[in-house]
Amino acid sequence: MVIPEVNVISKPIPITHAKVLWGGTFDPIHQGHVLSAIELSQCLGVHDVALLPNCQPAHRQSPLATAQQRVQMLSLAIEGHDELAIDTREVDRHGLSYSVLTMIEVRQEIGPVMPLIWCMGMDAFAGLRQWHRWQELLDYGHVLVLTRPASFWPRDPELLTWYATHKVDDAKHLLASSSGQVAHLKLGQHAVSATQIRRQLRSGYQPSVTELAPAVAQYIASQSLYGIN
Ligand code: ATP
Repeated sequence: MVIPEVNVISKPIPITHAKVLWGGTFDPIHQGHVLSAIELSQCLGVHDVALLPNCQPAHRQSPLATAQQRVQMLSLAIEGHDELAIDTREVDRHGLSYSVLTMIEVRQEIGPVMPLIWCMGMDAFAGLRQWHRWQELLDYGHVLVLTRPASFWPRDPELLTWYATHKVDDAKHLLASSSGQVAHLKLGQHAVSATQIRRQLRSGYQPSVTELAPAVAQYIASQSLYGIN
């Protein structure tokens, strides 16, 4: 009997070179962000996912924590998670943060070939048409929409047509080109939001460790943030 030869040398999982950015206010960063970003890096097979805090968000109220405090909480939250990084360019730039300007800057840095993926939750996607020069985002990179508990597909026909025009069915396909496409991805669905965390803290409740990293909780207490005395 001829025993078929089996290749027993296991190949390392290829790491794709791509720039993956996850913008947000992170006021504060919570475990929904952290766990989803870790899972995202695994799903895409990319080395790191950069969390990118805005300075002054253009479409929502100003954050309660300062930019420096939010960056500090980000670094505490990602400690020990090698697949996560922080990109402080919007904070360093000061003023209103426009994602399209950030994408233009990043594209200039990485050159024309590398995939650039801008991630956002479904709730952020629903408001995309209010973003400054939103249709230009795809000139510089891809958009990846992450499903989120209690967030549903928007009904805005123009946004849905835009999505359908540029969509690819598998988020991994975004890694095959530099820009111009959109996809959505369902991650682990962590039902936590910064609004809920701030509300809990204001009412004197301590969020659980599955909602807020203990180091971030300690920092919030030490800085008397979000109504903690
Ligand atoms: P807030 O409740 O203050 O609006 P948030 O929890 O939505 O805050 P942001 O910093 O605004 O947090 O979120 C940054 C990005 O991360 C947004 O695109 C948002 O949709 C996404 N996001 C936030 N929480 C989750 C989550 N639990 N799962 C998936 N995506 C999330």
